[in-house]
Amino acid sequence: MKYDLLVLGSGPGGYAAAFRAADLGLSVAMVERHERIGGVCLNVGCIPSKALLHVAGKIRSADEPSHGVEFPKPKIDLDAIRHHRQSTVDTLTGNLALMAKGRKVDILQGEGVFDSTHSIVVSKDGKDEKVEFKNAIIAVGSRAIRLPFVPYEDPRILDATSALQLERIPEHLLVLGGGIIGLEMATVYQSLGSKITVAELGDQIMTGADKDLVRVFEQANKDRMTFLTKTQVTNIEATPEALNITLEDKDGARNLAVDAVLVAVGRSPNGRKAGIPEMGVELDERGFVLTDTQGRTNVPNIFAIGDVTHGPMLAHKASHQGHVAAEVIAGHKVDFQPLAIPSIAYTFPEVAWVGLTETEAKKQDIAVKSAVFPWTASGRAIASGVTQGKTKLIYDDESQRVLGAGIVGSHAGELLGELTLAIEFGATLEDIALTIHAHPSLHESVGLAAELGAGTIT
Ligand code: FAD
Repeated sequence: MKYDLLVLGSGPGGYAAAFRAADLGLSVAMVERHERIGGVCLNVGCIPSKALLHVAGKIRSADEPSHGVEFPKPKIDLDAIRHHRQSTVDTLTGNLALMAKGRKVDILQGEGVFDSTHSIVVSKDGKDEKVEFKNAIIAVGSRAIRLPFVPYEDPRILDATSALQLERIPEHLLVLGGGIIGLEMATVYQSLGSKITVAELGDQIMTGADKDLVRVFEQANKDRMTFLTKTQVTNIEATPEALNITLEDKDGARNLAVDAVLVAVGRSPNGRKAGIPEMGVELDERGFVLTDTQGRTNVPNIFAIGDVTHGPMLAHKASHQGHVAAEVIAGHKVDFQPLAIPSIAYTFPEVAWVGLTETEAKKQDIAVKSAVFPWTASGRAIASGVTQGKTKLIYDDESQRVLGAGIVGSHAGELLGELTLAIEFGATLEDIALTIHAHPSLHESVGLAAELGAGTIT
């Protein structure tokens, strides 16, 4: 059988592309090496981590000011927590399989390796099947970066996937890497009782977010986690008693003994695998597949989307690219040129940002102004005991057009949606200020930040 479209990889990029193409009338096959479709995000990424963060939030709420209602200390049942994580994953991946079936997308289970620009060999249990296609979308994702000095064979060394299993709760966990994935898992383990040290090579944790937002997160967690920035982990020695870590910072080298290490130092694209370079598909030096804004590679019938391409390694970016690539293959004139891709750290408090940050504006020498509404002045935040937060709009002084936004605080990720839309629509401060925001609400902080910037309130 020759398919109109073959999609290699079934993550948020792959399934979004496959489903859109099928909806547009193409015959589609999706190749996935794992038994379950959904990729990293559904199986071992976005979704299970959020299920655990939901539980962590319940535990954390027991520490918060009680406002006159005392609850007993939480009793933690790890098996029930694991069950919640797994049943969340099972529900979503099960639904996805039904959606594929409903659309008549063929799921070919096995390891796919391209053997030409119009065919792929799918191997499973020693059997090979050659599948032909007119067009293909590479959606093979990314994998965790591994460091040479880490003794990965030691069960006390965790990566994001094994950390999600919650096999045991270490007394002292070192999180190597202060990015979103590391900090989310740090939040989960802290709430379950681990002492947390985060070691980050850069000068701030959560690189990508503006420092003023990150400071609010650090301040809120200063008694729960130790943040070591500009600190390099240079060695890990595994002894029966502990993992002995060598940390180096401006004061020199020192040792730290911990019970477990979570390595979360970033992810690298899978572009050099699956016979992709052998087809003549152009990659950059790090292994990202190069594409144009329609997702097309230098080989005209081969497209690439998601983590294996440039841009933020985020599920929603992968899905949108997937839709575009599928539509282009179906003959539509579309391309992928978003003004705003939101990033959310689902930590406590949440940190969320979209569009241009102040840090990036400075780097690119773009003159911007910012308007900040502190949550200490929000009626809803005060009433709910969540005043550790702020809402910031970044805008062009002359046109007053909103170019970026950052929110830190409870539900920051949910609040960011309005600002993502505002940036895509080219909204000005006035547009937002004149939009009636409900009172009292946390999203009112968006309207009030706009009013502050526009000078209609002081
Ligand atoms: P993937 O989801 O990586 O899927 C690629 C698929 O291709 C995999 O299933 C793989 O098995 C398959 N594959 C690869 N090669 C082959 C082959 N040769 N043959 C057959 N199959 C193959 N992003 C967010 O937006 N929000 C979050 O909250 C979030 N949380 C995360 C938490 C964690 C712990 C992690 C690790 C990641 C998180 N991410 C999050 C990132 C998100 O998971 C990725 O950006 C997203 O999954 C990328 O989608 P993709 O389709 O490019 O690839």
